[in-house]
Amino acid sequence: MAGVVIVTGGSRGIGAQVCRLAAAQGYAVCVNYTSKRDAALEVVKQIEDAGGQAIAHGCDVSDETGVKSMFRLVENELGKVTALVNNAGIVQPISRVDEMDAERLSRILAVNVTGSFLCAREAIKRMSTKHGGEGGIIVNMSSAAARLGSPNEFVDYAATKGAIDTFTLGLSREVGPEGIRVNAVRPGLIETEIHASAGDADRVERFKDNVPMKRAGSAAEVAEAVAWLLSDGASYVNGALIDVAGGR
Ligand code: NAP
Repeated sequence: MAGVVIVTGGSRGIGAQVCRLAAAQGYAVCVNYTSKRDAALEVVKQIEDAGGQAIAHGCDVSDETGVKSMFRLVENELGKVTALVNNAGIVQPISRVDEMDAERLSRILAVNVTGSFLCAREAIKRMSTKHGGEGGIIVNMSSAAARLGSPNEFVDYAATKGAIDTFTLGLSREVGPEGIRVNAVRPGLIETEIHASAGDADRVERFKDNVPMKRAGSAAEVAEAVAWLLSDGASYVNGALIDVAGGR
């Protein structure tokens, strides 16, 4: 049963792969992004060239008004939203906790945690049987960092992903009775541009030997798990935290 999915941060990296796989499953896809419109439009084009349906929509997930407008626009252009992938997430420059200021902490909490809550809220209002909906699917993007803590790199980021794990567990129990399945995927070391945005473009090369499989994962390998959670194949999976981390 494919429907309409919003993938936050769908313009690049893991999110872009999720958009392509969801479209191949038959979902009409909203490719959300925040600044790189060209990258989002390229994902839309790839989906359309493959015979699928997609739109791009720019909105910072931490902007409450913008999130509300995005859901309204998607409903008008693609139809009833049946699935949400809370994938948008940021890291900030590598830092110890004793160097972090309130501005940095507010920003990472706003995007990684508040953004996921705001998008989930709008999705629940449309999907929950309590609100007259027909159910739906939410997939949250956590991280192995939630288990590992990311010392000397970004403990703040790891803590936001710990919050996403708890959010997933609580929400799955809250809206499970209302027809919504809520799960999370926890990627490990994945080759995307996120490492460069932390000021550490060589991070994958340096840490790949810490992974039992002795390599980084690809965005496509993470997207496969998300696509499964978005499918009927995962119809009895709720409240799961699925590690896609090469055994680390
Ligand atoms: P990425 O390559 O840096 O891509 C980030 C995506 O998020 C881009 O599409 C970006 O849009 C979008 N974005 C950033 N801030 C946003 C905001 N405020 N509102 C809306 N969209 C926003 O990241 P990635 O590596 O694919 O990571 C995706 C998710 O997986 C994140 O939640 C990350 O924490 C998680 N994860 C990644 C790894 C890894 O090793 N890569 C490991 C574990 C977990 P623009 O193109 O407009 O900038």
